[in-house]
Parts: sequence; C-alpha cells; structure tokens
Amino acid sequence: KTARKAAVTTASTRGTGTRLTSADRVVYPDSGITKGEIAAYYEGVASWLLPELVKRPLSLLRCPEGTDGTCFFQKHHAQSLGKGVHAIELREVEGSDQYLYVRDIRGVLDLVQMNTIEFHPWGVRIDDTEHPDRIVFDLDPGDDVAWSEVKAAAKDVRDRLASIGLGSWVRLSGGKGVHVVVPIRRGPGWDEVKDFCGAFADVMAEHAPHRYIAKANKQARTGRIFIDWLRNARGATSVTNWSLRARVGAPVVMPLSWAELGRTRGAADYDLRKALRRARTLASDPWEGFHKAGQRLPRT
Ligand code: ATP
Ligand code: MN
Ligand code: MN
Repeated sequence: KTARKAAVTTASTRGTGTRLTSADRVVYPDSGITKGEIAAYYEGVASWLLPELVKRPLSLLRCPEGTDGTCFFQKHHAQSLGKGVHAIELREVEGSDQYLYVRDIRGVLDLVQMNTIEFHPWGVRIDDTEHPDRIVFDLDPGDDVAWSEVKAAAKDVRDRLASIGLGSWVRLSGGKGVHVVVPIRRGPGWDEVKDFCGAFADVMAEHAPHRYIAKANKQARTGRIFIDWLRNARGATSVTNWSLRARVGAPVVMPLSWAELGRTRGAADYDLRKALRRARTLASDPWEGFHKAGQRLPRT
C-alpha cells in the first residue's frame, strides 16, 4: 500500500509545506490538465489571487472525480482540509457552525490537494462577518443574448452606479456572464446591503424591461439579462478573481479594466494557460483603485 501511494505522490509544492498527491492525475479530461498543473497555476497567480480571497469565509467547489465527475460545494471546515485551512464559527439559521477560510497560498494549495477547483468567498472579512465590504451584481444572460449585449449591460450598470457616486469594477465569470463589483466602506449590515442591491436591480429592469429582469425566473429570462442581486445576501458567495472554473476548457474568472472588457469575445475568454501568461506579464492592476475606493453605500 505504501509503495503504491509513493508511486502517485510527487514532491511537495515549492516551499509551502503542502504535500500534493496524484499530481499527474488528469482533472480536466477535455484539455488534459492535471492536478499538478492546477497547483502550479494557483501558485503562479497567487499575488493576484490572494488579496481578494484571504481572510474571508469561503465556499469551495471540489471535484474529486475530475471536472466531468460529481463536484460539490463545501462551506464548512474540516480538519482533513489541511493545516493551512482555518475555521471560523458563524451563526446559522439555527445555531452556528465552523466555516472555513485561508490566510495564504499554503491554504490555497491545501485546498487544491483536496481537489478544490473553484473558490467562492463571501463579501465580508473574517474580523467582521456582519458588515460587507463589497457588493456584486452578477449579470446572467438568458438564452439568445449576444455577448455585445452583456458588455453593454455591464457598462449600463457601471454608469448607473456612477450616477449615485459608486465606482465599479468588472470581471468575466469564466461561464456565461460578467460580475460588476462595488467595494464599499464597512457599515451597513446585510439587510441594508441586500435591500440596496434589490432596489438597484429593480430600477435597471424598470428602465429597460426588454433588456433586464430583476427576478430569478428562468423562463422570463429568455432574450434578457438577469441582474442577479441575490449574491449579496448573508451566506451567499460569488466566485473570486483568478479562480479556475470546473467547466470544459478550464476557464478562469478574470478581472479586467473597462477598456479591456470592450475587446472581449465571451465570458470564457481566458483559460488556465492564457490567465497564467497574463498574471506573469500584467504591467498594472486591471482593478487599479479597487482597494482604495472607500466609498459609502447610499441609503435606500
Ligand atoms: P455564470 O456566468 O455562468 O453565471 P457564475 O459564477 O456567475 O457564472 P451563477 O450561477 O450566476 O454562476 O452563480 C453566481 C455565484 O453564486 C457563483 O459564483 C457562486 O459563488 C454562487 N453559487 C451559485 N450556485 C451555487 C451553489 N449551488 N452553491 C453555492 N454557491 C453557488
Ligand atoms: Mn452569473
Ligand atoms: Mn447568478
């Protein structure tokens, strides 16, 4: 048994202390990407990935059988996740439970070792989990919506936010849509934040009902874009910048400047290799100013 285990075990990832087993196992059967390559990817993009990810409660998408097998979301801590993965006790509807977070690349690699592909943080930091520091408008195009329409919608959301004094930043989801992200100064609680987001989405839909919908009704979505504001409820998450997606082609969640968004051709424009190249060559932060924005959420 020991011999067999040794045969599928490769060296630990450089200097982080995580022991990566089965590094040669193919995780993305469509593109032949291995677990070792996934670990190398997350190490390679760490300086871009970590600022948005660390010290926040985290949901994971784990795919122990590969991206074409059964994947599952996990939000609760377990000792088996590794020493770099930490617990935080959070209130639930009834009682409380241990949630999980990481502080550094060691934690990320521990989670990769446990077959995590996607990282989905909350919009709060662990030192105050009742007061969000960012909101996310998740734009979900229905069937028959052209990419140019999705881009126009993102700019529409940006412009309406700007008109009430809020700067916003955009990312490709790696799936079908985009997220428009708004950093806010901590203060308002979850209910106030959620109410603001719902009211904002309603206004978008009222002004252009043929283009937008603010209700999570799949049928009514055909030909329109759902402004999904429900990501901003307590316990909800959105996938983080530079996270891989467990989808065909190994697409990546990519933060872009607004100018770059205009040149994209789809939400899955960046795959693992292209993202890694971008991480190495990026001259400036596409989300310049995001962390310093310090903007106050207007009252609804
Ligand atoms: P797409 O562009 O394809 O919509 P997405 O990541 O925005 O990609 P959504 O289905 O719109 O996917 O979901 C938005 C966010 O909600 C996700 O990024 C994820 O964090 C969270 N989410 C969605 N479904 C689940 C789920 N079943 N369990 C936990 N979190 C989920
Ligand atoms: Mn979405
Ligand atoms: Mn959604």
